[in-house]
Amino acid sequence: MPGELRLDPLTGEWVNIAGHRQNRPNLPTGGCPFCVGGLEAPEPYDTRWFPNRWPALEPGEPVDVAAAAASGTTTLPARGAAEVILYSPVHDASLGELGVAQIRKVVDLWAARTAALYARGDVEYVLVFESRGEEVGATIHHPHGQIYGYPFVPPAAVVEREHARHHGDTLAAEIRAELDDGRRVLFDDGQWVAWVPFASAYPYGVRIAPRSRVARLDDLDAGGRDGLASALGDVLARYDRLWRGDPAASPIFPYLMWFHQAPRVREDVDHLHLHLAPPQRSPGVLRFVAAGEVGSGTFSNPVVPEAAAEVLRSV
Ligand SMILES: [Zn+2]
Ligand SMILES: [Zn+2]
Repeated sequence: MPGELRLDPLTGEWVNIAGHRQNRPNLPTGGCPFCVGGLEAPEPYDTRWFPNRWPALEPGEPVDVAAAAASGTTTLPARGAAEVILYSPVHDASLGELGVAQIRKVVDLWAARTAALYARGDVEYVLVFESRGEEVGATIHHPHGQIYGYPFVPPAAVVEREHARHHGDTLAAEIRAELDDGRRVLFDDGQWVAWVPFASAYPYGVRIAPRSRVARLDDLDAGGRDGLASALGDVLARYDRLWRGDPAASPIFPYLMWFHQAPRVREDVDHLHLHLAPPQRSPGVLRFVAAGEVGSGTFSNPVVPEAAAEVLRSV
């Protein structure tokens, strides 16, 4: 049975009820399905994508969530796309260890899938993301990420766009402010910048973006893709070195990572960027999101951004 989108009458937001995904495997103990010869990778590959076998969103007749909500419809089939992106055939590698040339190939694949999903017409928003580490629910260690294609622009993207609609390119202004201050900047090659945000909601949270506005991954030219690969490789390698050697640290540094980019229907405020959010506050210690934070929508970050940046710059 496919999942369904249900409209929450209190918030007006759609929730994906995906009961069918409860049966998917947890940390398989047999052969890795992503290694060459495995279930999802029968042929040799360098990078690879394929549709998720347990999709949270499935291709089908397009759904119009705005029309549905206006007409009082509260349930829709969970239409869209759910894909898996394999970064490398090497099982024990991580995106940060792959090297800039291989990360660049992953960037090309992200861009190609973004273009392909927007060309379908039933996808309004493409979210490229990765949940790394058992702490954040990754069920297979092989280096991989995912892509969801939503039939609507999801709330986290809407919030940022609304803010930019009223204040201009807020991201470009943030980058200028961070470069002027300098204390939280981790990477700057003149084109791409990585920094710990002034008001980071996450301990060791990082943003990565091009100084000049580019709307989507598939809009990046060759130089832009090189720059993204360098910036991302630099930051992920810092994460991998951050608590290395600490006996309490997780063997794999866990993080959440997601791109925000322009929806299918673009606006001139859309500015591609990447969010990185580690779930831990110190080696092996999860930062739980507390009731006061969920209840208020106001996060409390126990690690001061300047201190996080200082240690990330030093490793
Ligand atoms: Zn593998
Ligand atoms: Zn964002």
